[in-house]
Amino acid sequence: MNIALIAHDAKKELMTEFCIAYCGILSRHNLCATGTTGKIVSEMTGLEIKCYLSGSQGGDQQIGARIACNEIDLLLFFRDPLTAKPDEPSEENLLRLCDVHTIPVATNIATAEALIHSLSRGDLDWRDIVNPKN
Ligand code: PGA
Repeated sequence: MNIALIAHDAKKELMTEFCIAYCGILSRHNLCATGTTGKIVSEMTGLEIKCYLSGSQGGDQQIGARIACNEIDLLLFFRDPLTAKPDEPSEENLLRLCDVHTIPVATNIATAEALIHSLSRGDLDWRDIVNPKN
């Protein structure tokens, strides 16, 4: 499956810890991320991640375009509801696209853990049936 990772600055450490904890599961999937998130996570975990532009340069929109093309099966977007900067990706468009395409999405670590366990159990495999290209 194709999994996209985005973390606002205040959540990048948490995203890294999450990916370290679930490295074994994540390594069995195709990962992509906004630039800085992907760089940090790949350096800290050794996971292979396709890095798009930084969020401030439009990387979130590149991921949004893949969601719009139904090429993303799971979005983990750790957002910072308290101190996000104006140039950090706003969640509104991405969450809307996930709803349009029925993409499972987590905006915090608690939901991300629930989804990653579902992924490892195969509960999300219906997406492979709907999108055999994955
Ligand atoms: P980044 O994008 O991973 O490139 O930092 C996300 C953000 O800007 O918060």
